[in-house]
Amino acid sequence: MPSSRREFMKAAAVTGALAMSRHLLKGEAEAATPPIDRDLDGVIEMHVHADPDVRARCIDQLTLTRQCRQNGYRGVMYKCHDFITNDIAYLLRAMVPGIEVFGGIALNRNYGDTVNVQAAKMATQVTGHYCRCIWMPTYQSAFDQKSKGGVGVPVLDEQGKVLPEVVKVMELCADADIIFATGHSSPDECVVLTAKAKEVGVKKTVVTHASQAPWKLTMEQARICIDNGAYLEHCVLPYFKGPHAVVPGYRNQKQVSMEEFAAYIALAPDRQYISTDLGQALNPNPIDGMRTFITGLRKVGVKEDVLTLVSKTVPARLLGLD
Ligand SMILES: [Zn+2]
Repeated sequence: MPSSRREFMKAAAVTGALAMSRHLLKGEAEAATPPIDRDLDGVIEMHVHADPDVRARCIDQLTLTRQCRQNGYRGVMYKCHDFITNDIAYLLRAMVPGIEVFGGIALNRNYGDTVNVQAAKMATQVTGHYCRCIWMPTYQSAFDQKSKGGVGVPVLDEQGKVLPEVVKVMELCADADIIFATGHSSPDECVVLTAKAKEVGVKKTVVTHASQAPWKLTMEQARICIDNGAYLEHCVLPYFKGPHAVVPGYRNQKQVSMEEFAAYIALAPDRQYISTDLGQALNPNPIDGMRTFITGLRKVGVKEDVLTLVSKTVPARLLGLD
């Protein structure tokens, strides 16, 4: 068994045992149980998928929010490709006190064939104001669709300039002081978008899953985006890809090693954060994924203060929790 798989199974066993013992002892009162895993105490998950959704997920938002709280998380932000998530965040907060829950909107084709400024604006006005991120198109981005022979929702015009509706969304993010995220834009598009976002005055630009193919930035592009004032997100998801992947579709995709993640983080730890991007059916529980990520980075030499920065401090800053 490869070591990554072994680590995961060990982590899964620990989580399972913890959850069960707490459940047996206290039932709902388990909310008051102090967190046991120091690594997860105070962590904020910035990118995770859960039911209800259009795609098959391994867990629902209510169950995962409860598990996150039990494990000491400070917060969680849900992402859905097709619908806003900050409306449910409002209800999750009422149902699971003691954890910050956020959401946002990904501007895919559900909201039109072009980036829909009105949809983004309305998302920021939903009860509770828990919309903390507006993602540019993801699986329906022009970049993703091009490789599949389709036509996606564009962010740049033919000349490679940022489209006016995208600039309007940047302005919206700047005014609301929330995250403008690149979604599934190409690495080259990310360079252009981050430069424009800086010009517009966005304080919280994020290059989504910056170390994951096919959106993977080169180290040079990563440096440029950081110089443009952007933050880079690193998701553990591609660590679970490769020949031993549980998800059949991931077996012919390349694994991103902990060493690679660490190399990006070393560029500027205070401008980057980690998340999981997990939640797919068959993939590990996102909490096990987060533990695997933190312990894995530690094993390849990432220092404790940096681990705290990328898993807690920077996410808190981006969500306005400081
Ligand atoms: Zn995702």
